[in-house]
Amino acid sequence: MAYDDSNIFAKILRGEIPCDKVYEDEYALAFRDINPQTPTHVLVIPKGAYVSFDDFSEQASGEEIVGFVRAAGKVARDLGLVAPGYRALANHGADAHQEVPHFHLHLFGGKDLGRMIKPSEK
Ligand code: AMP
Repeated sequence: MAYDDSNIFAKILRGEIPCDKVYEDEYALAFRDINPQTPTHVLVIPKGAYVSFDDFSEQASGEEIVGFVRAAGKVARDLGLVAPGYRALANHGADAHQEVPHFHLHLFGGKDLGRMIKPSEK
């Protein structure tokens, strides 16, 4: 799938639409999800143009991958999520209902998140 630079996160990266920023460095931008699913719900996105985790894992340079992962970990620490715990999740493609075609890592926290997938949903 080719990267479409009209997606909403590309517009946020270009400063064309605002976001509630929590962190930025040369590799990543982190901002609060507009429709939070948990008390803390932050999205971490790479600065580069990658459609999804699949694209990022295959095409990004080692430097970009390390920079992104370090940034995501720092965001979780800075938000105070490490001691209570948090969930990091990336949706890729149709079965995961990925909505925005720019790779993003969700960081969920601020409450007991329960089990990842309920046994009845397997
Ligand atoms: P996904 O289903 O993994 O693609 O998740 C996309 C996420 O982006 C959803 O949780 C949306 O609420 C969130 N989202 C969409 N537009 C914005 C926006 N302008 N600012 C912040 N979060 C957004």
